[in-house]
Amino acid sequence: MHVDPGPGAIVRLNELKISPWRTNALFISHCHPDHYTDGEVIVEAITQGMTKKRGIFLGNLSVVEGFGEYEYVISKYHQSKLEKVQVLYPGDEVELYDTTIKATHTKHGDPFGIGFRLKTIYGDIGYTSDTELIPELIEDFDGVRILIANIVRKKNERIKGHLCSNDAIDLINSMSKKPELLIMNHMGVKMTNPQIEAEYISQNTGIEVIPAKLGLKVELLNGNYKYQLIK
Ligand SMILES: [Zn+2]
Repeated sequence: MHVDPGPGAIVRLNELKISPWRTNALFISHCHPDHYTDGEVIVEAITQGMTKKRGIFLGNLSVVEGFGEYEYVISKYHQSKLEKVQVLYPGDEVELYDTTIKATHTKHGDPFGIGFRLKTIYGDIGYTSDTELIPELIEDFDGVRILIANIVRKKNERIKGHLCSNDAIDLINSMSKKPELLIMNHMGVKMTNPQIEAEYISQNTGIEVIPAKLGLKVELLNGNYKYQLIK
């Protein structure tokens, strides 16, 4: 599954020698271009250049169907070649091959934005997408083994529609079962040293925290996890 393919996603896949042809599903959380611009390129890969009807596209209302000024971001032509296209609202749960994916809540510029909780045989992986800290996130992600959180600013530098480091700390410390690993994602330009923020969040939550990087490969295994940088 490719999640939120922004500008250059296909170029990065190529650089990292990850074949786009192996993609079966596309997930787009909301209608901001840093999350969708390469979406149709990924559909081309899923459908083998639009020659086969196959694959799954899951997205929020804005990106799949559009709503008023929130125009859909994957053309109807591209959507027509997918085996399954589904709009997800927070709380919706669908089967996805050997996993189940549940849409989670957000509060962001796109009012229909979603994140997800992916349930696998080894445990759950959460992705907040872009959102402020809202109480719903606690239940949405309580007990996930790995949480990928879009944390834009450092310490307590809160901006509308996004998480800062202190929000992430509050979220994790509000859970009855904390994640084993937090992956910081979507760091903004004003977060000049994500590694220092990772250590700060880790010290204040007691869990391992790493900043996402190009080529970071994380594997959720039975009882543990591992990560490495691939070139
Ligand atoms: Zn956004």
